Amino acid sequence: MKTALVIDDDPIVLTVIARTLEDAGWRVLTADDGDKGVELAVAERPDVIVSDLLMPRFNGYQVCRAIRSNQTFLPQPRIVVISSSNYAADRTNSIEAGADDFLLKPIKPAELLHILELEGGTTFIRKTPAFSKGPTPPDTTYFRRAIGTPPSVRFWGVRGSIATPGDSTLKYGGNTTCIEVRADGELIVLDAGTGIRNLGRKLAGEFKDKPIEVSILISHTHWDHIQGFPFFIPAYSPHNQIRIKGYEGARVGLQSVLTSQMESPYFPVSMQQMPGYLKVEELKEMQFNIGKVKVTAAFMNHPGICVGYRLETSGGSIAFLPDNEPHSRLRMAPVTDSAQSYEVLAYAQKQDEKLIDFIRDCDVVIMDSQYDGVEYKSHIGWGHTCVDDAVALSSIARVKKLFLFHHDPDHDDAKIDSMQEWARELAAIHGSSLEVDAAREGVEVVLDRARA
Ligand SMILES: [Zn+2]
Ligand SMILES: [Zn+2]
Repeated sequence: MKTALVIDDDPIVLTVIARTLEDAGWRVLTADDGDKGVELAVAERPDVIVSDLLMPRFNGYQVCRAIRSNQTFLPQPRIVVISSSNYAADRTNSIEAGADDFLLKPIKPAELLHILELEGGTTFIRKTPAFSKGPTPPDTTYFRRAIGTPPSVRFWGVRGSIATPGDSTLKYGGNTTCIEVRADGELIVLDAGTGIRNLGRKLAGEFKDKPIEVSILISHTHWDHIQGFPFFIPAYSPHNQIRIKGYEGARVGLQSVLTSQMESPYFPVSMQQMPGYLKVEELKEMQFNIGKVKVTAAFMNHPGICVGYRLETSGGSIAFLPDNEPHSRLRMAPVTDSAQSYEVLAYAQKQDEKLIDFIRDCDVVIMDSQYDGVEYKSHIGWGHTCVDDAVALSSIARVKKLFLFHHDPDHDDAKIDSMQEWARELAAIHGSSLEVDAAREGVEVVLDRARA
């Protein structure tokens, strides 16, 4: 005679299931909480465990994990999780915790008995296959024709660190890093901070059911650069193709960082459940193409792995350096009593020269300018630039237009206005023809080399 263990804190459910199984010829054990259930399971080695999901003290996930991690429990029992909530995340989490099946309450006796008659395996997974995407993604010719002439840049999120909605940020906006570039038939998104949510809404409205194709370039995986992605509507349409590209993180790969921010404790839908054609690509080369757009990446001076991108389009060049701390400025900081050696400073200067080369003659540069000169002194080593350096580097590099970017969450509109004014004065002092604006949500720049 086969043995079943039923665990549920609801005495009625316990009685009904026990009776159903006994009538079908099973020997039945019962427990009214997860703790006792696991103890009983270890002692009695049932063939099947039917466990409720939400129980105080020791829930169904914990029951699954306790049984599955018990190396001496052989052969392992079949585990059926039962629950009154029917969210996809609860089902997949149960299976991940080690359940073979998931049944929604109220339990129909016939259904439970039918599942137990099946030959092992995971009937839940068999019943609801993953999204069946076709082998080839839908045709995006219409979309490609509709975008990209002349090339343009639009700001959807300009803030660093954390989103800052409210009265004091109405002018420049409170969303974190996200920029849309349309160029030569490509839609390229620079970073996926909270600004990407509104971009997604705009695209959904603009292209309706026409398949779209988006390349998202990630500078690095700090929250302010990836946190909006789960709210990017186009990723939820099975017609769309989304490629996320970036460099491997300091501790784990890009794919793993992006998927883990959508894991169940943080978000209700997993990345695997997104129905779009989604591909995460870890870049190895520092130069690559997205269609006709040539992209160059350069490592930035910022905690962890962080890059800046330079895009060459038919209308001009765009450089995006959202988070960076100039080497010389950092090394000159009086960290010790003794002055920095000449070698150290020369080395730092070389590193900054590389950055100047990277943005040289660029039409549009979007650069970290989080602090003013005074604030920087108390933020040395935080990985960000002060506005004075952003202007100096851009002037030396003969940049045409600089956007001050990655605004500090503590800076209100008035403060950013004053930083913009100071930056313009500085450019004039440098005798540079550099144009400077503080980046503002909603602003669009059209790149038209021919017209210029
Ligand atoms: Zn940042
Ligand atoms: Zn960062």
